[in-house]
Amino acid sequence: MRLLVVEDDAMIGNSLRSGLRQDGYTVDWVRDGAAGELATATTAYDAILLDLGLPGRSGLELLARWRARQNPVPVLIITARDSVADRVLGLDTGADDYLVKPFDLDELTARLRALLRRRAGRATPVIENGPLTLDPASHEVRLDGIEISLSAREFGILHALMEAPGVPLSRSQLEERLYGWQEEIGSNAVEVHIHALRRKLGSDRIRNVRGVGYMVPRET
Ligand code: CA
Repeated sequence: MRLLVVEDDAMIGNSLRSGLRQDGYTVDWVRDGAAGELATATTAYDAILLDLGLPGRSGLELLARWRARQNPVPVLIITARDSVADRVLGLDTGADDYLVKPFDLDELTARLRALLRRRAGRATPVIENGPLTLDPASHEVRLDGIEISLSAREFGILHALMEAPGVPLSRSQLEERLYGWQEEIGSNAVEVHIHALRRKLGSDRIRNVRGVGYMVPRET
């Protein structure tokens, strides 16, 4: 899952980036409104953490622009502005959730998981597909109830595919989910991870759709 953090405070931005990376997210961090605008024009994010008081364009202006362009990306506002009027304005401008600074990273990541779950149209926290289950909170993957140990990238790929069973994702879509701006991507990195996943889960669990990409077939 790839996140954009729009935050001008260096300390908060740094701790968010490292904390979220430790939780398995791919994180891009920008420090002003213009960079936030550029980032969302060039990259598809799974969710955005948005500060309101930013140099140049404000967070609310950014949010209003995304929504005016029909960009449905889940947005969680993180701000020191804690009046009821501010919270109402943020939500009514199109934010999905609102967290007042200082906040706890555990609460932030729980809210993120809730946003991503709603976006995927899922009622349950654990993703199930046939005998395979994936828990975004604990990072546990089980096949027929038996825990399968996966690397962070393998987990990221499986998570992306299991959010939309039956829908193929291309190699570049998976790369976009897994790798931030500064990260070097090996030419066959995704294939290597898919190969490892098939070895661990069984080759039928991830299908290669010729010329399109990879998918987890929907199982009941
Ligand atoms: Ca700020």
